[in-house]
Amino acid sequence: MVAATGRHHLRLMGPPGSGKSMLAQRLRSLLPPLDYEEALHLAAMQNLKGETHQLSMARPFRNPHASSSLPALVGGGSPPTPGEITLAHEGVLFTDEVLEFDRRCLEALREPLETSKIMISRAGYQAHFPANFLWVCAHNPCPCGYLGHPKKACQCTPEQIRRYQSKLSGPLADRLDLSVEVSPIEAGELLQRAGTHDDAETMQQKVARTRRLQLDRQQCLNGELTPGQIARHCKPDAEAERLLLAYAHQYHLSSRAIHRVCKVGRTLADLENEPRIRKKHVAAAIQYRKSLSHLMT
Ligand SMILES: [Zn+2]
Repeated sequence: MVAATGRHHLRLMGPPGSGKSMLAQRLRSLLPPLDYEEALHLAAMQNLKGETHQLSMARPFRNPHASSSLPALVGGGSPPTPGEITLAHEGVLFTDEVLEFDRRCLEALREPLETSKIMISRAGYQAHFPANFLWVCAHNPCPCGYLGHPKKACQCTPEQIRRYQSKLSGPLADRLDLSVEVSPIEAGELLQRAGTHDDAETMQQKVARTRRLQLDRQQCLNGELTPGQIARHCKPDAEAERLLLAYAHQYHLSSRAIHRVCKVGRTLADLENEPRIRKKHVAAAIQYRKSLSHLMT
């Protein structure tokens, strides 16, 4: 819900069968429908790609395979056509098994994650395509997949685990806002938990309401705030700032990473309709990001 509300890029890490893909698909259903102009824009991109669709108000959900080529993912060709990141514009780009993607493909996501667009240059052609997507990536916690599994034992050495997880480069990890470890749920627990969370409709309403609040205040979502806007809209209160500074110092956080904590803190406060970013919001934002910290040192 936090990712859907503020458009915060998300990593899901967990063993096979823990429901990572299902969660990514459900996330899309929390997003409000496109407005008419957004839907037209997206249909134009689909046409350029040769994918003829009826005008749809549903947010796109693109799920490129790990074997996708660079042009298929980010766009290319002559004349240039859009790639998956553009077809996911205003929706979700889900890269499952993200560590299996070609390194060059992953690194090519850095520019659009920063600027929400991509420039393709070919001899004689130059094209700009929009790419304002919510990035959700997923992978196993280790090569065998069972690190942290309640029933099955992991066979990997600490060095293998470290090498595996570090396939997600520091600069890419630096662009993620949230990291969630997903663990398999036992059938009994699943039934017990049913009914203890908000239902889908309540969550959709909460996401839509909190998105409107952000757009009214700053004309964009929290995940899209520029550094100047962050200073204006995401200043934590004194106690929260002390916590953030201590964390930033301990993990040598980049200014980009500090800004990401502030933006997620803003979304957590907005979800509670709270004008100030308090210590509990910063603490939760740090918690959501903690497992990315070691990738950036
Ligand atoms: Zn393992």
